[in-house]
Amino acid sequence: MTVNVVLPLPLDQAYTYRVPEALVGAAQAGARVLVPFRNRRLTGIIVGEGPAAETLDFDVKAVLDVLDDVPVCTEGLLDLTKWIADYYVCPWGEALKAVLPAGTTVETEHRLTRTDAAPDAWADHEVGRTVLEDLAAHGETTLAAVRKRVGPAVPLALIRRMAADDVVAVETTLSDERVAPKTETHLRFAPAFQHKDAPDDLIEQLRGNKQRAVVRALAGFRAEGTPEPRRTDVMERADASYSTVRSLVEKGMLELVEKEVMRSPLDDLPAPDPPPDHDLLPAQQDALDAVTDAVDAHRYGTFLLHGITGSGKTEVYIRALQAVRARGRTGIILVPEIALTPQTVQRFRAHFGDEIAVLHSQMNMGERYDAWRRLRTGEAAIAIGPRSAVLAPLEDLGLIVVDEEHEASYKQFDPAPRYHARDVAVMRAHRADAVCILGSATPSLESTMNARWGKYERLELPERVPDASGKTAALPDVRVLDLALQRKKHQLDGALADPLREAIRTRVDRGEQTILLQNRRGYAPVLECEDCGWAPECQSCSVSLTLHRHDGGEQLRCHYCGYAARVPRQCPECGGRDIHQIGTGTQRVEAELEEVVPDATILRMDRDTTREKHGHHDLLRRFENGADILLGTQMIAKGLDFSRVTLVGVVDADVGLLFPDFRAEERTFQLLTQVAGRAGRTRELAGEVILQTRNPDHMALRYAQEHDYEGFAEEALAERRELGYPPFGHVATVEFRGPDEDRVERLAENWTEQLRQHAGPAGVMGPEPAFIQRVKKQHRYRTLLKVRGGSPGPLQTALRRTRDAHGAPPNGYHVAVDVDTQDVL
Ligand code: ADP
Ligand code: ZN
Ligand code: ZN
Repeated sequence: MTVNVVLPLPLDQAYTYRVPEALVGAAQAGARVLVPFRNRRLTGIIVGEGPAAETLDFDVKAVLDVLDDVPVCTEGLLDLTKWIADYYVCPWGEALKAVLPAGTTVETEHRLTRTDAAPDAWADHEVGRTVLEDLAAHGETTLAAVRKRVGPAVPLALIRRMAADDVVAVETTLSDERVAPKTETHLRFAPAFQHKDAPDDLIEQLRGNKQRAVVRALAGFRAEGTPEPRRTDVMERADASYSTVRSLVEKGMLELVEKEVMRSPLDDLPAPDPPPDHDLLPAQQDALDAVTDAVDAHRYGTFLLHGITGSGKTEVYIRALQAVRARGRTGIILVPEIALTPQTVQRFRAHFGDEIAVLHSQMNMGERYDAWRRLRTGEAAIAIGPRSAVLAPLEDLGLIVVDEEHEASYKQFDPAPRYHARDVAVMRAHRADAVCILGSATPSLESTMNARWGKYERLELPERVPDASGKTAALPDVRVLDLALQRKKHQLDGALADPLREAIRTRVDRGEQTILLQNRRGYAPVLECEDCGWAPECQSCSVSLTLHRHDGGEQLRCHYCGYAARVPRQCPECGGRDIHQIGTGTQRVEAELEEVVPDATILRMDRDTTREKHGHHDLLRRFENGADILLGTQMIAKGLDFSRVTLVGVVDADVGLLFPDFRAEERTFQLLTQVAGRAGRTRELAGEVILQTRNPDHMALRYAQEHDYEGFAEEALAERRELGYPPFGHVATVEFRGPDEDRVERLAENWTEQLRQHAGPAGVMGPEPAFIQRVKKQHRYRTLLKVRGGSPGPLQTALRRTRDAHGAPPNGYHVAVDVDTQDVL
């Protein structure tokens, strides 16, 4: 028998290996194997059975070992990663790496001991006998150590067969403690003292009160049905110390037991409130019916669920997931990275409890590994997380939800594969005969167009959920403040114009809450010398340094690489002392607010204030508990549901429009609509939104002001169609990076020339220096590929051929191929 193995190398092909007799049972598709490859030994993944060895005209090397009992990769994921590799033009090995949990790239360690059973078994098996002799000589040892002493040809599968015969005992751990399972100590009565009356006998024998208390407490737990409680729980109930417990263990009366615990990032979050139980609105019911019909028919379908914030989308996700679970199938809920909103996660927890495994970027390796294992073993049936959760190792998948499907954070960039989780979700659902729900208040133009073309089915939730008396909260009034005009009228001194200041003042006086968006962190984004125009830039990146204030001091920081410098008091170019602060970051708005409403409690939420593990959650808690103002970057725009917010202010609505990206308008419209949706979510309190801008006539602002998604989509789609941009075409970029500018440029030119040769109907533009030319001392060039029509095929062909012709770039240089690029900068 032979198998095809994919290696974690930038190579597209699979390699064929022979499977030795001893490994045949274990060598299943999806399992990791150790194989020889050009003088090295590498871990690869079996992707399928190979051709018969006799038919091959080359000498097939043998698999050295199979590393998994249960394949790490399910068949469904093998197939999906192949699609990812083809579509995003990346090696299959790299796509496979993305589905393995962080921990499995770490070596496993097998601890072996010889047992006394059947001393003569395996005497005829040469390797087996040698291993047993080695174990007899060395006591408990590791497989790696055995291999060092008796030679490399000791396969794990052989050890497993010996273990099945009871001649050796094997314990498998992960050698890296970051991912090793975590244990907790539990306590029980020793076997001789497990009969019913033993505790009473023991209590009579024992003299110390504390010792008796421990025995009594343990007996109590046992009577309650917990014969092996946690040691600390017993100590707490008995009010005893560990030394008391230990003395009982030393006397042979009690035993300590190590038990594995699953780490979960939810452990330290409060338990969720029990879920409310309401009747669905007619629109919600229609949407749910459409989804459950497909689930019942075991039929693939993608639904675009379009509904403004508060229209009840999440409720539909929950009901759909309940339907899927009732049929014994599993589900994935994707939420945008920064919006791993505790509120959303808590709502799912309230309904599904321990069936959920949460995955997110702030988890450590151990937590991630545990979550992965719970999903892989079927202990958990629902994965909630950001984009990578779309690759969760679930079988019999029934539903994938992509909440806020328009979010850019669903696109992965580094490392490859550079996949779009929404598109992978649709493809995964398709292959699993499952249902995919894409939800948004402002669907991406791609999804809207796919619904018009009939690829997705559109479901509408046209209004906000009404209250018990049937009243629906009105959409907030949106006022646009023209900053140029405000300045003329002398109503602008600082970042907040007078009308916005007054509106905030009124809310604070009335005890209502305000949300303020300023999509830039720090104090001032730029410093500039008044005399000569000099501005401090990062040494390693071609961007200006942002002024930050902290602990009463000031500092310049690079937002790309983290470099920090002191603030110059004098211009290094001309010696001038007039150094001005230009632009406004969240810190500066905070300082201004402190002057405007000195009596208000102000919370600032940006990347600087949410670094801590639950920082985001804590800030939201504090706002919920009554702070007056929540000020922050786009983090504040998502998924928050606060009933007392009656004012939303956007300090600078133009921030996003400055980027030379064909999606700039769409992003601005989405952000403004999202943040406006935070105002006036109750029926009694009317909401107001104030947008400050220098472009009051810009279409993105006009449509956001009118809450007019359709109007926006119409105008934006017409423009995209004319230019052949997505959804009427596909784009891809290739980014070239490296330390020496000339070499990067040459690399870019060579590639681009070749891309042109293979481009067919696709256009190739570039190479050009990237929008930000230098990041972390790496020079960057970029080439853009664009093709009209529904298929990215011509781009993929050109990219694949060029990559195959070029091979790997020189050491220290990188070529990043990005199909369906989100940020065309
Ligand atoms: P979205 O996800 O579209 O923002 P949600 O599902 O969060 O909307 O619903 C908004 C609010 O209305 C939530 O507090 C939710 O609990 C409540 N809600 C949703 N559906 C109903 C319903 N059918 N009846 C009563 N309340 C509902
Ligand atoms: Zn100067
Ligand atoms: Zn930098």
